[in-house]
Formats: sequence, structure tokens, C-alpha cells
Amino acid sequence: MYPSSEDFAQLLQQVRAFVVDECIPLEQQVDQDDEIPESLVQRMRALGLFGHSIPQVYGGAGLSTEQLARVNIEVSQAATTFRARFGGNTGIASESLVADGTEAQKRRWLPRLASGEITGCFALTEPEAGSDATALQTVAVRDGDHYEITGRKCFITNAPIAGLFTVFARSEPGTVGAKGVSAFLVERGTPGLHTPAAYRKMGQHGSPVGEVVLERCRVHASAIVGDLPGQGFRTAMKALNKQRINLAGLCTGPAIRLVDEMVRFAATRQQFGEPIAAFQLVQQMIAESNTEVHAARALVLETARKRDAGEDVTMEASMCKLYASEMCGRVADRAVQLFGGSGYIANNVAERFYRDVRLFRLYEGTSQIHLVNIARRTMARAQPAGQA
Ligand SMILES: Cc1cc2nc3c(=O)[nH]c(=O)nc-3n(C[C@H](O)[C@H](O)[C@H](O)COP(=O)(O)OP(=O)(O)OC[C@H]3O[C@@H](n4cnc5c(N)ncnc54)[C@H](O)[C@@H]3O)c2cc1C
Repeated sequence: MYPSSEDFAQLLQQVRAFVVDECIPLEQQVDQDDEIPESLVQRMRALGLFGHSIPQVYGGAGLSTEQLARVNIEVSQAATTFRARFGGNTGIASESLVADGTEAQKRRWLPRLASGEITGCFALTEPEAGSDATALQTVAVRDGDHYEITGRKCFITNAPIAGLFTVFARSEPGTVGAKGVSAFLVERGTPGLHTPAAYRKMGQHGSPVGEVVLERCRVHASAIVGDLPGQGFRTAMKALNKQRINLAGLCTGPAIRLVDEMVRFAATRQQFGEPIAAFQLVQQMIAESNTEVHAARALVLETARKRDAGEDVTMEASMCKLYASEMCGRVADRAVQLFGGSGYIANNVAERFYRDVRLFRLYEGTSQIHLVNIARRTMARAQPAGQA
């Protein structure tokens, strides 16, 4: 059961007010301090932001893919670090459980993720296994009713603050590639699990990203998601496929914000005796950006609706992620250009967003990996000449 359109309209209104009144005023401070104030995190919990995608029966809002996309487009109109604080719980860090978890696992973890009592993270990437995640080297060795997990995960969003880690490890000896990998639910405090300090990074300050180190980390066999040993990679792909639509929404919000900022600046900045908005080459930057925003938004919402209708949108989700992340990068680049020298100076909105959105083209599948996927699927769908 998804929320009714009236209830959803109210929720969206609440989110919009939170973004405008409480997040945007703190953007500069969070960028400088590299930390989101705990009082704001409490507000996120109170507003239910941690549980938007989690089914209502487990304490979430149970939004449809389309509703979640609309929320993502709103929340990402403030610096994307705010959304990163709760976005794992209502995305990649809960989706494996929602898709494949046993009833007992769902009852144990989803209410705590939905309320924001704990923060989740999705630990797939390793130093030698990035785009080729199937090359992971983390192993889970069976010992009676338990497994001992050993390995090192890198670049994991929210690892330094997470209470629950979905860790992907090879549990079936003698397997290679996507086969033989299991998804384990590991709680902070489990002996053998360590999280070093967060990295310093180019942007998205306030969103801690770090390593997860596992040294014979001992978990019970019931910690395998869905009680499905060796099926973890399928679970990961289910989570990532939905997440690509979420992320495309999150790329669209910043571009909307930047178009607004460009229009405002162009109307007030005077050169050659008139506002720069009067110059057609400046207008071109605004027009191209706004057109691309509309194209991304339409693609994301159409794909979300198809997913809600039960269609396989694996290729379309890749297209959404590729197009929206590249679009957002182009819009941020134009925003810096339109702001002129001030767009290059620290704390200018275009400068901050330019750094923040650079990540979108890198994680959850780089643009190159999505291009490869889209090409492969497009060619597979096409019928050989003469067979039409
Ligand atoms: C801030 C941040 C947060 C992240 N959060 C998470 C997280 O929460 N959980 C998680 O598991 N991971 C996370 N990641 C990891 C992210 O998903 C990987 O960085 C990404 O998959 C790319 O892997 P890589 O960095 O090893 O690059 P590589 O795979 O080494 O790629 C390097 C370059 O080679 C290109 N390339 C690689 N293979 C091909 C190919 N077949 N064809 C064409 N080009 C190719 C890539 O496109 C890229 O340009 C995060 C990363 C960052 C930076």
C-alpha cells in the first residue's frame, strides 16, 4: 500500500519546507565543519526521512518508486550531504533487506533503520574490486553455525557512523565472479569489525565515507540476507537497480537549484551597463540547463512509474543514472561559468555544488560502466537484420 496522493502531497510539502527553512541555511556551515549538527539529524528522524522507502508495516512511509523519486528531487535541492545522512536508510542500505530479507531479519532491522535509530551502510567496493565488484576478495569462512569474515571494504558511505553493515563476501569456496557471494548483516560492535576515520574528500562535506575492516569477524549463519548463501550478488543488483533511479532523482534536484541560482544571479549582476541576463550567451547557459533538467526529470519519473508497474527497468535505470549525473555535472559547470570569478571562490553556491555533484558520475556505477551496460542491453534487444 502506497500513501494516498493527498497524504503524499502533504509529505512532499513538509520535505520542501524542511529543505528551504532548515537545510539550505546550514549549507555553508556544514561544508566548512564537515559535520551535520545532531539537532538537524533529530529533525530528520522526527520527519520520518530515514524510512521513506521502507514498507509501512516495518515503520516506514512505504513510498512507491515514483513517490520516492519526487522526494529525492526535492531533498537534493539543498546540498546533497543532507540527503546522504538519511538516504542510505531509505535506499541502498535497506533495499537488500526489503528485497530479499527473511521476515525475522526485516522485523529486527527495518524499524530501527526507518526511525533513524541506526544508520545503515552497503559495503561492496574493495581496493581491488570497484567497477568489477565481482572481483571482491573478502571471504566468509564457515565454522559450524558461524562464518568468519575477513577483508577490507573501501569508499563506504556512512561506514564511520553506521550501526548496521551489509557486507558482501565470498562464502562458497571454489567459486568465482558473481557466484558464491553472500550478503551478511553485521552489527557494529561485532568483534573483528573496525571502521577507521572518514576520508577527507573533494565535496559532500558532512557525509562521512570510510573503510570497513573485517578481521575474522564472526557472525551467525542467520546473518545472511534472506538465508540465501551464495546469492548475495543478485541481492546487491536488486538494491543497485532501484538505487539508480533514486540517484538520478538526486542528480536532478541540484540542477534545479542551480538553474534557480543562475537566474537570480544573472538578473542582478550588471556588466556593460545591464544585467548579464540580457546577454543571449548567458541565456543560452540557462536555457540549455533548464531543458536538460526537464529531460532528466521526465526520464526519471517515467522509469519510476514503469518499475512501479512491475516492468523490468534494468536498462532504463542505467540510462537514468547516466543521463542525470552527466546532466548535473554539465549544469554545475555552466553555473560556475555564469557566476564568473565568484563561482570559483570558496563558499559560492556554484563552487560548492560543483564539488558536491562530481561524485554522482563516479559511484553506483561510473558513467563508463553504465554506457557499457546500456550498449550491451540495447544490442541484445535489437533483432538481427532480416528477422523483423
Ligand atoms: C564518496 C564515495 C562514496 C562511495 N560509497 C560507496 C558505498 O556506500 N558502497 C560501496 O560499495 N561503494 C561505494 N563507493 C565506491 C564506488 O561505487 C566506486 O568508486 C566505483 O564503483 C568505481 O570503482 P573504482 O573507484 O574502483 O574505480 P575503477 O573501477 O578502478 O575505475 C577507474 C576508471 O576506469 C573506468 N573503467 C573501469 N572498468 C571499465 C570498463 N569495463 N569499461 C570502461 N571503463 C572502465 C571507470 O569508469 C573509471 O573511469 C563510493 C565511492 C565514493 C568515491
